[in-house]
Amino acid sequence: MSYKITVLPGDGIGPEITKEAVKLLDAVGETYGHNFEFQYADIGGVAVDKQGTPLPEQTVQHCESCDAILLGAVGGPKWDDETPDRKPETGLLGIRKQLNLFANLRPAIVYDSLLDASSLKRDVLDGADLLIVRELTGGLYFGKPRERREGEHGLEVIDTLHYTEAEIERIIRKAFDLARLRNKQLTSVDKANVLENSRLWREVANRVAADYPDVELSHMLVDNAAMQLVNDPKQFDTIVTENMFGDILSDIASMITGSLGMLPSASLSADGPGLYEPVHGSAPDIAGQNIANPLATLASCAMLLRYSLHLKEEADAVEEAILKTLREGYRTGDIAAIGEATVSTSEMGDIVCQQILSAS
Ligand code: ATP
Ligand code: MG
Repeated sequence: MSYKITVLPGDGIGPEITKEAVKLLDAVGETYGHNFEFQYADIGGVAVDKQGTPLPEQTVQHCESCDAILLGAVGGPKWDDETPDRKPETGLLGIRKQLNLFANLRPAIVYDSLLDASSLKRDVLDGADLLIVRELTGGLYFGKPRERREGEHGLEVIDTLHYTEAEIERIIRKAFDLARLRNKQLTSVDKANVLENSRLWREVANRVAADYPDVELSHMLVDNAAMQLVNDPKQFDTIVTENMFGDILSDIASMITGSLGMLPSASLSADGPGLYEPVHGSAPDIAGQNIANPLATLASCAMLLRYSLHLKEEADAVEEAILKTLREGYRTGDIAAIGEATVSTSEMGDIVCQQILSAS
């Protein structure tokens, strides 16, 4: 099969790590007989410098006319003084909005060979593998009114937690679909003892559950979920929650895995192309040195293969190749123990590609 992938390298280490990702997808194509056609476009700071805007129209067009989007990272101190409409991050928010990417997927996988990098106990973590599905386009971060005003007793501030039933239903359905691809256990996280939003959330989840009799649904209050994630992450398979709760919980979950350089993410719409990117930022402090860890981006490719191209075997192979590379002891600087030998960004990419090519 032939697939069209839009590549948005972006800023900082973005170009270095997306280069390894393209190399990996080419290796997957060669091994499994697919043709990946890559179209490159500018986003973020590099787009501001070259085209005067962080999200050029042509970039949007490329993103709308492809099967999936692979993003490196955007931003850096160089653009600190830009006006809000010229900030690199505005480009990323813009493309999420344009493509209606309402579901943000953040897996937290604990790699056995990196267990010592986490601050938690080995037996608590070993084997943890969960997916947080966060609503990304509604809730407290977008609700109106949002204001600061002079009240009767001095300044007062208002933020609004707003969801429509339709917005809740589409993220819940997406999460059920994803749980089906995993271990068929879905935990819906809310604050239904306090918030009206959460009460509707729970009703919708219970109603939608009838369409997924093979998936086991449970509910958990967000404060308890935060505690359980640290205390016993292995109990979770798939978690679904609203925007702000998901923001906080996914950062907690990322910390149990130990390294920022390992974490992939996906942002999905109802049926258009998904966007795949590492969780980490553009790491301007190490850009251009060929020392960045490309594994978060390579793991994002596995998600791209799985969720946008529906190539399960290929996605499994990429995840297996990463696992094997780590077990064989290859480390970039960020995940190496003190004194341990390290490989460069491109060497790490080559080794993972080799695992794919030789596994076939
Ligand atoms: P953002 O605001 O985009 O999240 P940030 O400055 O908060 O960016 P990062 O750019 O992710 O965060 O960098 C945080 C630290 O982690 C930096 O010291 C950076 O060098 C390091 N880091 C981030 N990604 C990687 C990577 N892939 N490999 C090695 N180190 C990394
Ligand atoms: Mg940050």
